[in-house]
Amino acid sequence: MSINEVIKKDDNYFMKTFGKRIPVYFTHGKDVYLYDQDGKEYTDFLAGIAVNSLGYSDEGFKKVLHDCVDSFLHVSNYFYDEPQAELAEMLCKNTGYDRVFFSNSGAEANEAALKIAKKYHFDKGEERNHFVALKNSFHGRTIATLTATGQEKFHVPFAPLPYTFTYVDANDTPALKDAITSKTAGVIFEVVQGEGGVIPLEKEFVDEIFALCEKFDCVTICDEVQSGMGRCGALLAQDTLGVKADVTTLAKAIGNGIPIGAVMVKGKTSDVLNPGDHGSTFGGNHLACSAALYVVTKLTQTDIIKEAKNTGDYFISRLKELKDKFPCIKDVRGKGLLLGAEFDSSKNAADVKHDLFEKGFLACTAGQNTLRFLPPLIIRKENIDKLITALEEILNCQD
Ligand SMILES: *Cc1c(COP(=O)(O)O)cnc(C)c1O
Repeated sequence: MSINEVIKKDDNYFMKTFGKRIPVYFTHGKDVYLYDQDGKEYTDFLAGIAVNSLGYSDEGFKKVLHDCVDSFLHVSNYFYDEPQAELAEMLCKNTGYDRVFFSNSGAEANEAALKIAKKYHFDKGEERNHFVALKNSFHGRTIATLTATGQEKFHVPFAPLPYTFTYVDANDTPALKDAITSKTAGVIFEVVQGEGGVIPLEKEFVDEIFALCEKFDCVTICDEVQSGMGRCGALLAQDTLGVKADVTTLAKAIGNGIPIGAVMVKGKTSDVLNPGDHGSTFGGNHLACSAALYVVTKLTQTDIIKEAKNTGDYFISRLKELKDKFPCIKDVRGKGLLLGAEFDSSKNAADVKHDLFEKGFLACTAGQNTLRFLPPLIIRKENIDKLITALEEILNCQD
């Protein structure tokens, strides 16, 4: 089918949620490359929004999926499932969490995390309806998680929203001190705000979240849906700050493209959810857990994360060189392979993204005029060098 025919069907029948998309569809992927309907090659610096960490040619991953197709995909959580139990053990042992629940998405994992925070206080006989979240955060599209998302534009059409949220600027410690009280059920944060514009939290600020939550017995919720699973140079991004939240959520990369999310609990939250409190039909099914078991095994038993950290260090140093050459780049920041370049008002990040696409590179934008890079963890220096050259050409000719 031609791309124009596909666009026409989408225009006529798909809800307008995604607006005008990038005019391409892909027919196959290989290694860190995607190929469109005309055979044009794109180097992937998006990875399906931090999802396809192993790229498109992992033969072991494909075999696991084939084996599921040959046996079965789903039987329901009425029954035990071997890969589900193994995945639960492997995640807990490698992260230091006590228990896990599997969902289908990041929003669902965060929804469960908010339920856990509420139920924790309920079990103590307290009703706490107040949460603290950060401005420019992103936690999902369900009613509760869009409420947690500290971006006004997501709230207006859906008010009234559940619970009371106070939104604090990232790294604004005095505001945090004002926001967290003995009425606060929990605090939710990303270690590096992804959708909000690649904004890393400072260690001092995160330490303050933990100190205040300890003081008022609130539940700390670390949303690692984007930052987790090696994306920031460690299995969990919070590992790099030496903290461990009461509750951590995962999704995006854990299934390398098979939809699965996870909410992990420890200590005071590990036995909050009991029979009848939560559940899911699809969540953690045989296919999803088989896929994620392969991914987590690969991430924890090979050097892939260590190498991704090195590649990320190289990538950010190349972006910093670019910033020195082009004053329109205001800031370069991020952790591991979650990186962003913010432009000043003389340049539009979306235009740069478009020009990169024309040159065969997939990237995306985030927050305020920021170009965001989330390549597969197996991306190589030579791919980065080519991307930097393309960016130089684009910025030179736009200047
Ligand atoms: C993508 C994302 C979510 C939402 O995940 P979905 O799978 O789209 O529901 C939540 N939190 C963060 C930090 C994310 O990046």
